[in-house]
Amino acid sequence: MNFEFSEEECQFLREVDDFLEENRHIDVMDVTRENMAQVADTPERRAFMKKLARKGWLGITWPKEYGGQDGEGFYEFLLNEKLSSVGAPQIGKGVGIVGKTLINVGSEKLKKEFLPKILSAEVEFAVGYSEPNAGSDAAAMRLKAERKGDGWVLNGQKIFTTSAHFADWYWVGARTNPDVKKHFGISLFLIRMDDPGLTIHPMPTMGGERTNGVFFDNVFVHDDYMVGEENKGFQYIAEALDIERFTLFTISPILGRVRLLCDYVKTATRDGKPLKDDAVIRQRVAQLATQCEVARLLGVKFVDAAVSGSTPTYEASAYKLYATELSLRVANATMDIMGPGAQLALGTEEAPGNGRAESCYTYTVIDTIGGGSSEVQRNIISKRKLGLPKNF
Ligand SMILES: Cc1cc2nc3c(=O)[nH]c(=O)nc-3n(C[C@H](O)[C@H](O)[C@H](O)COP(=O)(O)OP(=O)(O)OC[C@H]3O[C@@H](n4cnc5c(N)ncnc54)[C@H](O)[C@@H]3O)c2cc1C
Repeated sequence: MNFEFSEEECQFLREVDDFLEENRHIDVMDVTRENMAQVADTPERRAFMKKLARKGWLGITWPKEYGGQDGEGFYEFLLNEKLSSVGAPQIGKGVGIVGKTLINVGSEKLKKEFLPKILSAEVEFAVGYSEPNAGSDAAAMRLKAERKGDGWVLNGQKIFTTSAHFADWYWVGARTNPDVKKHFGISLFLIRMDDPGLTIHPMPTMGGERTNGVFFDNVFVHDDYMVGEENKGFQYIAEALDIERFTLFTISPILGRVRLLCDYVKTATRDGKPLKDDAVIRQRVAQLATQCEVARLLGVKFVDAAVSGSTPTYEASAYKLYATELSLRVANATMDIMGPGAQLALGTEEAPGNGRAESCYTYTVIDTIGGGSSEVQRNIISKRKLGLPKNF
């Protein structure tokens, strides 16, 4: 078994490193935004995505007929890990969720309209599945879509639509048939984010970043902008969620936080004694570093399953659960080891580790919820890997 990268993979990593070095700027790369660093929410970050597009790195795994490279998913994984290691925006919703679903089930019209724009980073998407009573159980969504002429009229509400305040298009699930079992009455739509029937309300998160509530008031969507077949939306959403669980939660930022903690332990003293000589602290940091290796390998296992053509649902859940819970353990250890000063906010001069402990602590909690909570991932593992009965 060979755990080393091949020569081609190393060459690709060097190329990405050089590119990141050339484009290094705090407006584009900011690790202190934690996992929210992945969104292209400012003009500078969107310009950076366009540069990535010009390198041909947005469609690595897309088929050549749609402008992609028919390349291996492993390169996409390597790229996202590199991008997240420096807090740069990542290839995400557009290329992964929207693009891959359109390639699989979209009409020729939608493919023609959206795929080239996704590949050239000209369009940003927000994803609207969650509602006040439909989070973990996304199939319970109630946003109402009623047939009207050659389209649909949507009324209702979404919550936690993270990119709604800067995205161009909204990828939305809505109930088109209320009279069948909940999983079979949902359809997927694409809606312009500036539709006058949409109202966007900011929802601040405990990590200091923004997500949104979105209200729909008679939003008309033409049939052409329904994705795939009517009432099959939940099937498409479920497949795309497995991709999301993996791509949204990279391991590099967690490795970076462990490095930050190690650097602190190497130099700090408490009661006149160096922390690095404290056996309990050494044990804790070593254990976290070992767990990072486990998380990294779970990630590689997911990519391997995806590349070999199977649907890696269990692997996606195992990775997401382990990596985000590990991130919590790292944040807790950092708080404990850095002491009371660790509670000082990011940017406070006197704060140990420049206040990163506080931002990691508040933000990593969110990562255990978004993209499906830890309990939901455990349910998936119990059912799909262990064959235990379904509990929901
Ligand atoms: C910062 C942030 C950004 C987000 N961005 C988006 C986005 O862009 N688009 C989008 O559509 N959604 C988004 N979400 C929503 C996210 O997917 C949901 O928050 C998540 O699915 C949980 O749903 P909920 O908040 O309604 O909690 P609930 O589903 O109400 O869960 C509450 C608690 O009950 C537990 N629970 C629920 N069901 C079970 C079960 N069957 N067995 C055991 N325990 C269970 C959960 O684990 C949780 O602890 C985002 C969330 C956050 C926090």
